[in-house]
Amino acid sequence: MDFQLTEEQRIFGDSVRGIAERHLAAGALERAHDPAYPRDVAKLFADHGLMGITVRAEDGGQGGTLMDAVIAIEQVARSCPRSADVVQSGNFGPLRTFAEYASPALKEKYLAALLTGDSILALGMTEPEAGSAVTDLATTARPDGDGYRIDGGKVFTSNSRDADLFLVYVRFGDGIDGIGSVLMERGTEGFYLGNPSQYLNGEDWCALHFDSAYVPAKNVILGPGGFRKQIAGFNAERIGNAARSLALGEFAFGKARDYAVDRVQFGRPICEFQGIQWKFSEMKIKIDAARLLLYRAAVNADRGFPSALETSVAKAFCNDAGFAVCNEAMQVMGGTGYSTETLVEYCFRKCRGWQIAGGSTEMMRNRIAEHVFDRRFPQRPPRPRA
Ligand SMILES: Cc1cc2nc3c(=O)[nH]c(=O)nc-3n(C[C@H](O)[C@H](O)[C@H](O)COP(=O)(O)OP(=O)(O)OC[C@H]3O[C@@H](n4cnc5c(N)ncnc54)[C@H](O)[C@@H]3O)c2cc1C
Repeated sequence: MDFQLTEEQRIFGDSVRGIAERHLAAGALERAHDPAYPRDVAKLFADHGLMGITVRAEDGGQGGTLMDAVIAIEQVARSCPRSADVVQSGNFGPLRTFAEYASPALKEKYLAALLTGDSILALGMTEPEAGSAVTDLATTARPDGDGYRIDGGKVFTSNSRDADLFLVYVRFGDGIDGIGSVLMERGTEGFYLGNPSQYLNGEDWCALHFDSAYVPAKNVILGPGGFRKQIAGFNAERIGNAARSLALGEFAFGKARDYAVDRVQFGRPICEFQGIQWKFSEMKIKIDAARLLLYRAAVNADRGFPSALETSVAKAFCNDAGFAVCNEAMQVMGGTGYSTETLVEYCFRKCRGWQIAGGSTEMMRNRIAEHVFDRRFPQRPPRPRA
């Protein structure tokens, strides 16, 4: 067992860090307070081979590992927390699922523009009545000629305000085996976006409405029976979510450390108070533990999708650790940390969302408990006896 990055990973990390320092650090605060998706950052990353890191080379990607993509998130976030979201959408999000499962024809048509940052793909999974219970989703795909008519709606789709394409979970038939997914273009007749709402993190999202919206059969990504594969792909998304929690927690930690060294109260730097020192010790323990769990899940996945258990453990821990560290960093920085000039309050707001998004920390714990007891714990009420 080796707890060091390889020489190759270190060189890659250093180069990403340099790109972020040169191009992203200066605009980091402004970017964090802009509700729009930073398309310019996606173009920058495409120019430097940071989109599609884990996508196969024959599909136009970099053919790298999940760990490489984690390193990219960490190094980008050191300079610009908001830009870490672009590493996410260019490597871990629905793009990764699309690159894995879409037909060669679909990839030929859409993947190049996604990898150059010219196009954005969003994920429409959650519905008003199907959040944690995602298999209750009710958006239907009804056969019609050479394609399907989609009816229903989605909520909380990140990047929906700006996205060009949507990977939409749909129901072709009853039960879990009836669930699959389709690719829907923005502007499709019968597909409407609602007015933007805003998350606490400052990003906009729009409800998706499907009123008999037509998709050709060739736009089916996974047909009936595809749900388990989709969730396997979604575990990669969860690793990116966990990586951002850790990275933004570490960003806030660094700012708080600098503050604690510089800030003088009662005639001495506040880092000389034991009450402050122990906060940093606790934060450091959380960051190190989170990193080990995250790296285990990512390294074991190599070029594939990570294990459900290791992902759940990493996501639950990183989400809680990232949020707790941001919270303490803000406390250390007093009114400065709580104000919108430092990015620490931004990291706090972002990390809070990841405890809910991508499978809440409670749902991750449900998955872990099933492993511990080696049995399924159905969350639904038992069916009444006939
Ligand atoms: C920042 C952000 C970005 C998001 N981006 C996307 C996106 O791009 N695409 C998309 O489709 N969705 C997205 N979502 C939606 C997200 O996936 C859902 O919010 C999440 O799955 C929880 O669903 P819900 O909000 O309906 O909460 P609910 O399912 O109503 O849950 C409410 C609370 O009950 C708990 N709970 C529910 N069931 C159980 C149980 N069985 N055991 C224990 N606790 C339980 C939950 O953990 C939660 O704390 C995003 C959400 C956020 C906050």
